[in-house]
Amino acid sequence: MSLREKLKALEELQQIDLEMNAVRADAGGLPARRAELEARVSEAQKAYEAEKARLEDNERERRQVESLLAMERDKVKKWEGRLGEIKTPREYAALSREIDIAKKTNETQGELLKTLAAAAGTIRTALDQKAEELSEREMATQSDREALEKQEADLAKKLADLEARRGDAATRVDATLLSRYENIRRRRAGIAVSPVVGSTCTGCNRNIPPQLSIVLQRVDSVETCPSCNRIIYSAAAVNPPAPSPA
Ligand SMILES: [Zn+2]
Repeated sequence: MSLREKLKALEELQQIDLEMNAVRADAGGLPARRAELEARVSEAQKAYEAEKARLEDNERERRQVESLLAMERDKVKKWEGRLGEIKTPREYAALSREIDIAKKTNETQGELLKTLAAAAGTIRTALDQKAEELSEREMATQSDREALEKQEADLAKKLADLEARRGDAATRVDATLLSRYENIRRRRAGIAVSPVVGSTCTGCNRNIPPQLSIVLQRVDSVETCPSCNRIIYSAAAVNPPAPSPA
């Protein structure tokens, strides 16, 4: 294989590597977006759970007040029954006062029950709303999640295609040149090979010595830019412009 072809393959390899970097950068943002989607649902889920807990607290409190109230009402009934059996006016007055106090307390507890029942209605309305918001959020997230999964699959496919193309391009470069390419790529922000246009290295935008320009025209040795150390080649010599159609 001629050096010209190797340099072309190297240039192709670099294009592929740059594309792969871009694809990986795109893919790198996806886990954060996925987490954001999950957070949106869990936020609505938490709001729903909180409302449900409020309703449960309300129901528990109502049951307690109801059973206490039932007991207290029974007690008042028993006391009222006992009034007829009382012999002394003093005892009668005392029990009557106890009954009045108990009735007042029961009235207050009855009011509390009404307040709790009203609150339960409000909480139920809120709970329904939270349930609706949660299911809306889940539905909206579902489509976002599907879009995200499609994007993940697309990027994975792109990466697989690029890897196949890279493997193919790499077979057209010998091992020594390939390892040089990899070394420079690591040190030079991903760009290891630069065409020289005119007498300027496009990797660093500096001019190369005239003598090196002449060497590059021959395309029979691998040269590096004296300024940026990237592998350089003459764009005109390696990729001569296609003859314009007559
Ligand atoms: Zn350079």
